[in-house]
Amino acid sequence: MRWSRLLVPTLREDPAEAEIASHRLMLRAGLIRRVAAGIYEWLPLGRRAVAKVEAIVREEMNRKGGQEVGLPIVQPAELWRETGRWAEYGEEMWRLRDRHGREYCLGPTHEEIITDLVRATVNSYRQLPLLLYQIQNKYRDEIRPRFGVMRAREFVMKDAYSFDADVEGMERSYAAMDDAYRRIFSRCGLVFRAVAADPGAIGGSGTHEFMALADYGEALIVYCDACGYAANVEKATNRLAPASDEEPRPLEKRPTPGIRTIAELAEATGIPADRQIKILFYWAIRENEEPELVAALVRGDRELNEVKLKNATGALEVRMADREDVLRVAGVPTGSAGPVGLRGVRVLADEEVMALRNTVCGANEEDYHLFNVNPGRDFVPDQVTDLRTVGEGDACPQCGTPMASARGIEVGQIFKLWTKYSEALGCTFKDADGQERPMLMGCYGIGVTRTVAAVIEQHHDERGIIWPMSVAPYHAVVVPVNIRDDAQRDVAERVYRELLDAGVEAVLDDRDERPGVKFNDADLIGFPLRVTVGPRGLAEGRVEITERATGATESVPIDEAARTVAQKVQAALDELNRRDGSLGKRQA
Ligand code: ATP
Ligand code: MG
Repeated sequence: MRWSRLLVPTLREDPAEAEIASHRLMLRAGLIRRVAAGIYEWLPLGRRAVAKVEAIVREEMNRKGGQEVGLPIVQPAELWRETGRWAEYGEEMWRLRDRHGREYCLGPTHEEIITDLVRATVNSYRQLPLLLYQIQNKYRDEIRPRFGVMRAREFVMKDAYSFDADVEGMERSYAAMDDAYRRIFSRCGLVFRAVAADPGAIGGSGTHEFMALADYGEALIVYCDACGYAANVEKATNRLAPASDEEPRPLEKRPTPGIRTIAELAEATGIPADRQIKILFYWAIRENEEPELVAALVRGDRELNEVKLKNATGALEVRMADREDVLRVAGVPTGSAGPVGLRGVRVLADEEVMALRNTVCGANEEDYHLFNVNPGRDFVPDQVTDLRTVGEGDACPQCGTPMASARGIEVGQIFKLWTKYSEALGCTFKDADGQERPMLMGCYGIGVTRTVAAVIEQHHDERGIIWPMSVAPYHAVVVPVNIRDDAQRDVAERVYRELLDAGVEAVLDDRDERPGVKFNDADLIGFPLRVTVGPRGLAEGRVEITERATGATESVPIDEAARTVAQKVQAALDELNRRDGSLGKRQA
């Protein structure tokens, strides 16, 4: 491709709306253009990078026996009603009606559609296992689209679905996808960690997320270097410290004028936050039911984990209640609320709270607190479970070693679905004995467009993108220092042609621009290799090959330029093919 023909609207200035490097660079390098909140156009260079990721994904899915299908984006509501997810999915689902008033959605994911396809076409154990996948636009009306294509409302996803006759088969399919994902993200040049995760709206149980590590990453993960435990904070837990063996003392109510917060109480009483009880009120919102007010207790130094609370209450959503609601329903002021004698509200306590002795909490009376509170003696929660958010320094649940934490971008997730969808939709098969049984399913997603952004997030410097060869829109750019110089132009044209003949994806910078401008643009766009044709080299019949990543430059005879570049491209691809970008050990 000649640069003069290329549609690549680069920007000199940093766009104001971009908060993170990948978003900034994708706009500046002319890869994407925003059309509406969370809706983007992919310009030629960006689209080529997406296609590279798609090709890697396709190869690795096919290697595992996957078959590509094309399922509709527009999906009828009836199918979603069969599984109950039409109501469950909430406002993220993009819904529409046709001219007859029939309801549809733009697919946020395809479990219903694919299960419908398989129930209609597969009926014998002889046809199993089956692995189907597609690469397609998905639609989610995200509450807060941000970071460009990282969290968009329209994005490209690879979604795959496995169908097996038994649990062992499902486990095999899951392990095969785990393996494929490791290869895909390694080949894309990412450094990532697979972590145990919460299933969210997909359901099922047994799920891992693939997290590309990045400082700003939206997800927080905790992990243990000693034993390999790793989990999203939404799911992570810790080993409980042994319960205190302090003698319980008699309960006392004492005035605490003006004291409302954990910190103020610690300051006034010398009882540290980790020996206090924090109480938080939430609305648990369920389908076709009045919202229920619940009280959640965690240790004073802990953050409540809303995902765990949602799971524990069986709610579709939990929403923090405001003080008026708490006063109206429970009759207590939030700043002085406590679990002792609390009525009309279901109380859920974190396990760590139950281990406290002679603790302190609000007395449900303005300006009073209870002292020497002993959980189990002075109050009995309706439910004791894990509600805490764990983090750096907490003891690993498997081995007790203090854990570390890191931020990540979720580039993929794999799920064991068991029979959740096959039972709801009647996706059954006849086994060898003629028995009708539900299939065991798995589903496996990769954010293809998010992966492109994650690659840039991990591979850039102050000058621009540094593409790994496997994802680069083009492998190389040929830059004549001065296009008006006939000798330079002729050699550049020749090298460019030879590169194309050698199978190298190349751009010829044929613009009449100053060399500084061309070099800066090449660095911004991040071509892995640059061939520079300049007067000094030409005098000796040579051109220069520069690696974007290292800046290393090598001078080669004109005759050998194309072959050298082609070799470097292949060597880089081979190395990406062999590498393992995953951190930590494989978890069971
Ligand atoms: P998140 O927690 O980031 O919202 P999710 O868990 O809802 O993602 P999945 O249903 O697991 O997403 O979808 C599979 C993959 O699709 C994700 O791992 C992610 O890489 C990608 N993805 C999900 N939502 C978006 C989005 N809004 N924009 C871009 N990619 C997305
Ligand atoms: Mg996910």
